[in-house]
Amino acid sequence: MRFAIFDKKLVPEPLLSEPQTTQTIAKIGEIPQPSRNLHFQYCNDVRKRLIGKQLLLDEIPHTLDEIHQHYEQGYITLRKGIVFEKGTPRCQRCGNQKPHLFSSFPCSRCRELCTYCRKCIMMGRVSTCTPLYSWSDSECQSARETANLVWNGTLSFGQQVASDEVVKAISTNDDLLVWAVCGAGKTELLFEGIRYALSLQKRVCIATPRTDVVQELTPRLQAVFPQIDVASLYAGSPDRHKYSPLTISTTHQLFRFYQAFDVVIVDEVDAFPYSMDETLQYAVQNARKERSSMIYLSATPNQQWQKDCRQGKRNFVTIPARYHRKPLPVPELKWCGNWDKKLKQNKLPPNVMKWLKIRLDMEKQALLFIPKIELIPKLLAILQKLDSRIEAVHAADPERKAKVQSMRQKDIPILVTTTILERGVTFPNLDVAVLGSEEQIFTASALVQIAGRVGRSAQYPTGNITFFHFGRTEAMLQARKQIQNMNAEAAKKGMIDIE
Ligand SMILES: [Zn+2]
Ligand SMILES: [Zn+2]
Repeated sequence: MRFAIFDKKLVPEPLLSEPQTTQTIAKIGEIPQPSRNLHFQYCNDVRKRLIGKQLLLDEIPHTLDEIHQHYEQGYITLRKGIVFEKGTPRCQRCGNQKPHLFSSFPCSRCRELCTYCRKCIMMGRVSTCTPLYSWSDSECQSARETANLVWNGTLSFGQQVASDEVVKAISTNDDLLVWAVCGAGKTELLFEGIRYALSLQKRVCIATPRTDVVQELTPRLQAVFPQIDVASLYAGSPDRHKYSPLTISTTHQLFRFYQAFDVVIVDEVDAFPYSMDETLQYAVQNARKERSSMIYLSATPNQQWQKDCRQGKRNFVTIPARYHRKPLPVPELKWCGNWDKKLKQNKLPPNVMKWLKIRLDMEKQALLFIPKIELIPKLLAILQKLDSRIEAVHAADPERKAKVQSMRQKDIPILVTTTILERGVTFPNLDVAVLGSEEQIFTASALVQIAGRVGRSAQYPTGNITFFHFGRTEAMLQARKQIQNMNAEAAKKGMIDIE
């Protein structure tokens, strides 16, 4: 679309009554913003759709006329989709500024050669002639919603300390890292902070990289905050236009938000793809209000963050022990020679074979983590000779959910898996082995998560984790060190019972 400036206002070309000089929004210097007419009767549906959002025209089911009217009366703000800084484009929706992730095309909407962002094209095209539409303020003055917390559980000592810190960070609009070991019970420690924020009419978002986590968290939070209509956002979710004081969203869906939230809780900051993808980090930053609080949850912060914590540059709280007060099982490192070569001869290293046979004999379930999906056919051919019920799973496996379910029902004794099961799954009585733990995909953070699968339940708080490797790596040593450090801290603070 093209715009004219008329009477110090932006007017879209289709609404001009007579011909005027028009331009694409990118070429207009500062975009004029009319002041608010307090006598104007705005449309509540427009408000609900646009508050705290940044949407393309195509994403707003209202007429251009109606949208323009709200702009003229000072209720809608337009921002440039693409800005040029010294001639190089930057996408304001996703933050992309890599030149190779932009393209140009002869655009029928602006009749020029138009530059667009390829990085976020899956959410609709942002180009030099595309405005991003937002409601002009992000305060939610909606009817006071009551936010009673309906929960009868008790927090462990560590959870309580963290919960208090979360409340404090929210009250002072600060950032906080909650560094909690796998199995510490991180969802519960958020309840009080969320209740407190909602009671102050603050808008809260829990963002997580993965859709299945959104789907799992939504009913849990809906149950403890029954009076709140929780919005659950992931690709294809029905709640896309729902306005709620409590939103649970994949980090991807945050691209449509702009200065929306007073509290953003980012779950698994270390998890792929969030840690890899700068634009997702941009989306999270963009979605928070200027004065807001950010709570990061992680079991495995990266090296830089750990350093920042040690040097006092980052506000953080640790939960070094699990709810059941038993120490975290520490991984064993075992050399297994050139396992890749062995596999090509249709064999497994003897110590790996022995480890698996012991689990089968004891009838103890196990996960065997492998570095790449291509190994699965060879491994299954070997392992199914030991026990025909052994299965394998990977990210693109259509039967992934069914296999995890069979594992839960103990129909599968050993499940071979790629890193897809490194987090999020809990099986009560489990041992874990990693084959080829020296491979790059097994970062320190991945290995801590994998080790974190073991000993989670109070009934079976122990278990074996073995990293079978063809040469120790820094990542393996760091992972083990991190776990040992947490145990030492927990012992010092009296958070674990040592027999
Ligand atoms: Zn973009
Ligand atoms: Zn265009």
